[in-house]
Amino acid sequence: MNATEINAKLFKAKADKIKVYPCNNLRASNLGFPCERYLFLLIKHWDEQKPHDVGLQNVFDLGNTLEAHTIQNIKEAGFEVVTPSVRSWKEEVRGGIITGREDIRIKDENGELLPVEIKGISPFEFDKLNSVDDFLKSKRPYIRGYPAQLFVYMLKFGKEKGFFALTNKLTGETKFIEVPFDYDYGDELLNKAERIYAALAANEIPAACDDISVCEGCSLAHICGECRRVPADVDIDEELDALIDRKQQLSEAKKEYEQIDKEIKQRVGDREKVITGHYLIERKSFVKKAFTVPESVQWRVQIKRL
Ligand code: SF4
Repeated sequence: MNATEINAKLFKAKADKIKVYPCNNLRASNLGFPCERYLFLLIKHWDEQKPHDVGLQNVFDLGNTLEAHTIQNIKEAGFEVVTPSVRSWKEEVRGGIITGREDIRIKDENGELLPVEIKGISPFEFDKLNSVDDFLKSKRPYIRGYPAQLFVYMLKFGKEKGFFALTNKLTGETKFIEVPFDYDYGDELLNKAERIYAALAANEIPAACDDISVCEGCSLAHICGECRRVPADVDIDEELDALIDRKQQLSEAKKEYEQIDKEIKQRVGDREKVITGHYLIERKSFVKKAFTVPESVQWRVQIKRL
């Protein structure tokens, strides 16, 4: 046996685990998904979903191992943790049900059991997510959907708050984020569930969502009929957003820096040494070597807000 053979078996073992499961109702885990058309199609045509790939299966399996690690971290800190005894429970809404299963519940100082949703996430997201607002404003559709899960759990258990337990996939560190029950957000979600069940009853497919990034990787895009894909020659790299935002924040400061630098040089003028209150300024000459720039192809990067 050699490494290539072992790797082939590793790949096959993951590939063999990939399955498309029936979906007959809304779930706490998908209610927050931004596209109602997708949720409609998922219930009506679950068997037509494109299976995910081996890469994603690895991500799911890693997430499951991180759940045990996270529970261990929480217990080590002295908290009592309750894992659910049922496979799933349901909440009735007009026209159908929402099923769910909390990851754990944690006991507070008064003995109250509060729902906790465990997520293993990248170091980048781990640093960025510090409040429920950060989740709801995330550029990643699946992260925007996470609070809906906790909301359904809080509704089920009649609790005024729940928690995310986020574990950094790189360092293994766990942090908690408190999520208070928000009645407006809850109303929005329940209305959304009822709209989807009404659409299913009337057999009227909801409109496609506006956000093209949601369509990327949609497992039902091939039967959607309204898929809004990014053209094939365009890459998506949302992590560049943070750098571009920061560059724009600094652009005014850069202009001011250049203006002040010019003023300093004008004020120093021909003087070779000047002492200010805090600084010594020296003006020295140097010879700039002449050279010819060889011809080459240059690239100009233009950034426009979408
Ligand atoms: S392709 Fe886009 S619009 Fe169509 S169901 Fe999927 S996410 Fe919704």
